[in-house]
Amino acid sequence: MDKATVEDLSGSTLRGARVLVRVDFNVPIEGDGSVGDDTRIRATLPTLRLLIESGARLILVSHLGRPKGKPDPKLSLRPVADRLSELLGSPVEFVGETVGSEAKKAVDALAEGGVVLLENTRFQGGEKENDPELADALASFADLYVNDAFGAAHRAHASTAGVAEAVRRNGGSAVAGLLVARELEALGRVRENPERPFVAILGGAKISGKIDVIEALLPAADRMCIGGAMANTFFRAMGLETGRSLVEEDRVDMARSLLDQAGDKLVLPIDVVVADRVEAGAESAEVPRDEIPKDRMAVDIGPETIERFSEVLADARTVLWNGPMGVFEIEAFAGGTLEVARALVGATKRGAMTVIGGGDSAAAITGMGMAEKVTHLSTGGGASLEFMEGKELPGIAVLDDRDTMEAT
Ligand code: ADP
Ligand code: MG
Repeated sequence: MDKATVEDLSGSTLRGARVLVRVDFNVPIEGDGSVGDDTRIRATLPTLRLLIESGARLILVSHLGRPKGKPDPKLSLRPVADRLSELLGSPVEFVGETVGSEAKKAVDALAEGGVVLLENTRFQGGEKENDPELADALASFADLYVNDAFGAAHRAHASTAGVAEAVRRNGGSAVAGLLVARELEALGRVRENPERPFVAILGGAKISGKIDVIEALLPAADRMCIGGAMANTFFRAMGLETGRSLVEEDRVDMARSLLDQAGDKLVLPIDVVVADRVEAGAESAEVPRDEIPKDRMAVDIGPETIERFSEVLADARTVLWNGPMGVFEIEAFAGGTLEVARALVGATKRGAMTVIGGGDSAAAITGMGMAEKVTHLSTGGGASLEFMEGKELPGIAVLDDRDTMEAT
C-alpha cells in the first residue's frame, strides 16, 4: 500500500517534464458564476507549487458537478482557473476543451513552471466509463501522472484510473500528490493502527450510505457515538416513537442487529431536539428520546447527549467523525454539531489524533472556524468512507508502488 509520491521524483525527472495532475476542483459555483468555498483548490496548492518550482509543465484536469457526459456551461472550470491563478499568484491558462487540438496546442506551448487547466473531464462521455480512448488522449499530453484528487479516488474513471495506466505504458511514472499522500497517511493510521481508546462518531442523514462503515468500524472502535438522523433508525429499532423524524424503515432490522452485536460500544442519544418543521424559526424543544411527540421530528441531539458524547471524547486518543449531529445548516439545530466539534478540538489539544471525513461534516467544521484545530480534515467524502470500510480505492491502487519505483 506504500505508494510513490511526487517527492520520490527527482529534480531532473521533473524539470521540463509535462505532468498531468488530476486535481479535485469540484467546488461550488455561485449564482454569479464565481467560485464559492475554495477549500479544495487550496488543498492542491502544495503539490502544484512543488511541481511549478521544479520547473515542470503542469496540465491540470478535474471534474466539476454532474454534467451528463456533454458540455454544460454552468459547470465549466473557467472560474476555477481564475481563482487558482489568484491563489498561486501566477497565470493559469484555461482551455475550453478536455482533449483535442486546442488542448494539445496549449500543452505544447507550456513553458517550464507554466500551468494549463483543461475543461471539465465529465464533459466527455468516456470519463465515467473509464474509456481507454479518452485515457490515451489525456496520457498523450504528459510524461508523468500525479493524482492529487483524493475526493475522486474511489472512482475508476478515465482521468483517475485509465490515464495512470496509459502514462505508465508510455514509460512514465504515476504517483500520488502531497494531498493524497497526507490523506492516506492520516486515514491509514486510523484504519490500521489507532491509538486507544478509539472513538468513532457517526451522524448525517442516512444510515444506508454508512452501514458498511459502521460494520467495518464496530470491531475496531472502543466506542461508537451515533447522532444525526441515523440515530432515529436505531430509536425505531428500540421500539421508540420517532414521530415525523427521518427514519429509514428498510434499515430498522439492520439497526436492530447492530444493537445486538455492539453491546455497550454503541452510544446512542439520550435526548434530542424536536421541531415541527426543518426551517429557521420552527418551534422546537428538548425532549428525552422516549418522549418524541408524534407530530414532531428529531433535528439535533440534546444537551444530555452532548455531555455524554463529550465524556466519551474526553479520554479518546483517536477520533474519527463522519456526519453532522443534526440539521446544522439551520442555526437553531446546529448546537449538537458545534459542541461535538468543540469536544473534538479539546481532544486534539490533549494530544488525540482527530480525523473528520464526509463532505457535510467538513463544511460544518469549516463554517464553525475549527478546520485548523483538528488533526486532519479529509477532502474526500465518499472516498474517505470507502477507505475506512477497507475497500481499495481504484485511483490509488493504480499508482506506482514506492518499492518498484526505487528498483528502477
Ligand atoms: P457527510 O456529508 O458529512 O457524510 P451526510 O451527507 O451523511 O454527511 O449527512 C449530512 C446531512 O444530514 C446534513 O445535510 C444534515 O442536515 C442532515 N441531518 C443531520 N441530522 C439530521 C436529522 N436529525 N434529520 C434530518 N437530517 C439530518
Ligand atoms: Mg453529504
